[in-house]
Amino acid sequence: MANLRGDAVSSRLLSVPDMPDVTLVKTLFNLTRPGDKGQPVLIDKQKLPAEERLKYDLSEKENGFREYVSNLIPLRRRTPFPKPDECQNEMYNIPALPQTSVVIIFMNETWSTLLRSVHSVLDNTPASLLKEVLLVDDASEREHLKRPLEEYLADFPKVRLIRSKTRIGLMKARVIGFDAAASSTVTFLDSHCECFQRWLEPLLARVATDPKIVAVPVTETINSENFGIENSNPIHVAILTFPLLSYDWAYVPKREKQRVKSLIDPIHTPAMAGGMFTISKSWFERLGKYDPELLIWGGENTELSLKVWMCGGRIELIPCSHVGHVFRTHSNYHYGNVKSYYSYHRNTGRVGNVWLDDYKKFTMNSDGQLVDIGDVSERKRLREDLDCKSFRWYLNNVHPELYIVGDGVYNGDIRSALQPSMCVDARDYSYDVALEMLPCHDNGEGQVWDMSELGEIRHSIHCMDSGYSKEVQLARCHGEGGHQAWKYDGRSIHTEFGDCIAIEGHVLFRQACDGSLSQQWTWHKNREQRNLTTHI
Ligand code: UDP
Ligand code: MN
Repeated sequence: MANLRGDAVSSRLLSVPDMPDVTLVKTLFNLTRPGDKGQPVLIDKQKLPAEERLKYDLSEKENGFREYVSNLIPLRRRTPFPKPDECQNEMYNIPALPQTSVVIIFMNETWSTLLRSVHSVLDNTPASLLKEVLLVDDASEREHLKRPLEEYLADFPKVRLIRSKTRIGLMKARVIGFDAAASSTVTFLDSHCECFQRWLEPLLARVATDPKIVAVPVTETINSENFGIENSNPIHVAILTFPLLSYDWAYVPKREKQRVKSLIDPIHTPAMAGGMFTISKSWFERLGKYDPELLIWGGENTELSLKVWMCGGRIELIPCSHVGHVFRTHSNYHYGNVKSYYSYHRNTGRVGNVWLDDYKKFTMNSDGQLVDIGDVSERKRLREDLDCKSFRWYLNNVHPELYIVGDGVYNGDIRSALQPSMCVDARDYSYDVALEMLPCHDNGEGQVWDMSELGEIRHSIHCMDSGYSKEVQLARCHGEGGHQAWKYDGRSIHTEFGDCIAIEGHVLFRQACDGSLSQQWTWHKNREQRNLTTHI
């Protein structure tokens, strides 16, 4: 792919103090086509001259990713081939697909990551499907995002720059772009993304079949140090997490793997990370866009995930659509006159109050006890107008596997029948040592356990596991059953192979079940188990 424009601009910017000395670095590390096809750019910092090393160090501090390395890569580079290979045989009827307006919001983004995002859209999208690219500037302060950006974009008639005079946060910035969009679908991206070939066609194809489908590409990690991009394997869905109401990545649930007919079928995903998706204009409008009271960053992904499902739509992860995203090590922007803590908890507190029903009690700011959440009555009315289903419906039908801290099938402390004043204790969560019994203390902490739908015995993200020895230890939960799957019958906690958790000395071991007192436990039953089959 020719790269004239990208290279010309990088050279022009060489006069900006923190740009790398590209010629020098390319020679030093023998870089011919840095970053091509998503290859990592490997720089040995020790070999950099002092002045370059300073820029190298500063660029990570200022941005939460190694801008220095990003600046060595052309603004137009090829991305890896989309996987799985079956994607290459997929045919899309382009004239039958709706157009989209791509909305990219930014606040103090670096030059190279922002423009590489724009170029990757222009280079990987059929012109007939791309109505426009709307760049929404959320009151950035950096000089390169002022005149230089306008001058650069003047050569690209499809790209339009919209400026917000004041800092409004990512939700309102997206809504400004959405309101300005001229096509029937809108595709949102972050300002440090790279689209793969044919990233858009499969997204639009899904929204075209049903406007209530929100289509999400597979997020590929662009390494924040070396800007390498790989195809993720296996694909992960996004899920809600408690008590923070954030998101996490998880394996595709077993029932969903059984439901889909091929590797490239759309996957039902219980949530989305929030930065990248295609939605029909009418559906986002009908859903009340984002809560207009959300501030700066966080929580909007949870709001949208819940209301899409609960109000009659669906979120699909599209295996053939891939978009790279740089995950920062730290945020590069200030929060204006609010603290990040305040805005995050206010946002998730609002979302929890409107959408979680009685489950809001499992969230951090359930009743505004950390920070005030303001008035949510308008958003509750919206939910009623839309005649949305309950959060319990979401749990039973969309994500029965979801683990909510504090809401296990069994929940609370696990007491030994042999030593009734002793409880299983997760102590300081150290792995690779046998779990210990300590005096029960009733103040939560290491003694609160949940049995999940998958039979895990969980303490937050840590699970009882006895894979490598007879010792029962803590390990990071993997959700795959096996050595982390247990059953509790009101007396013993056992594996499906007839091994029971027992006390030996003051630690936990797995041994053949024999009904002895050292193998008996009391644990509170909290609710019925959910059915792990597909309903929708
Ligand atoms: N953003 C914005 N205004 C803000 C905060 C963020 O426009 O007040 C933009 C930011 O430039 C990015 C997107 O919102 O394009 C998401 O933010 P970020 O990438 O920092 O979030 P992350 O992907 O790390 O969760
Ligand atoms: Mn981002």
